[in-house]
Amino acid sequence: MIRFGPSGNSVSFYEQGYKSSFQMPEWLAKMGLNAYEYSCSKGVNIGRETAEKIGKNAGEFGIFLSIHAPYYINMASPESQKRENSKNYIIETLHAASWMGAKRIVVHTGSTSKVDRKWAVETAKQVLGESLAEADNLGFSDITICPEVLGKINQLGSIEEILELCSIDERLIPTIDFGHLHARGMGCLNSPKDFENITDAIENSLGEYRLKHLHVHFSRIEFTAGGEKRHWTLDDTQFGPEFEHFAEIIVKKNMEPVIICESRDQMAEDALRMKKIYEGCAKGKG
Ligand SMILES: [Zn+2]
Repeated sequence: MIRFGPSGNSVSFYEQGYKSSFQMPEWLAKMGLNAYEYSCSKGVNIGRETAEKIGKNAGEFGIFLSIHAPYYINMASPESQKRENSKNYIIETLHAASWMGAKRIVVHTGSTSKVDRKWAVETAKQVLGESLAEADNLGFSDITICPEVLGKINQLGSIEEILELCSIDERLIPTIDFGHLHARGMGCLNSPKDFENITDAIENSLGEYRLKHLHVHFSRIEFTAGGEKRHWTLDDTQFGPEFEHFAEIIVKKNMEPVIICESRDQMAEDALRMKKIYEGCAKGKG
């Protein structure tokens, strides 16, 4: 089943008088959405009670939950203490996911600004492997870790690097952030074929199952020579990429991804528009 939902809470959610994320599942379901990515990007500060409340409501309203792990994870830090800390942040996020019943966590892999890229990939593979082993020991084996394609050139997270990291364990599913890919490639996604080249690369490297069940982030994005600058909304049409182009490939390849919209402010509204674009595309081909 294909899933659509926002990353975090829309401005309109608060404007309508709602206050807490545990109210999100019902709000999203009433809009016609069925996924929600809870953000722990600034740290795992959520308490068990709130997490369980979100989880209970998500179950009741049919919302697929994922959690975004802290941004400051760096599996390729030259400092071993920081690599150790990174494992702990992953485990903390898995803990919160287990309270919430979230099925996936999205993880940034790190930076290459102070290190050699090859060393960074090898080191991150090791840290990720150790994190998986620790997760298994703690009973978190059923929560999928999803390393993310990142938007800045000096971040560890090109499509090739993420596919290589995901190759160490067949349970790892990549988070393909098409805005990030577009930014990193200086505006490289301009047609359905450009998207298909990416899905082909994923299928060749990780196989059909992982392509079909991909974790996806999508938003229009502004970039500079260093890559990602800022996420925009579907209305900001001066920035790419176009969701229509990807929708065609989802239908063509019969994919069932979880699609998380990362538009500024109106992420839930834009997720719904993306869902409608996809449905229009599926109908046209059906
Ligand atoms: Zn991210």
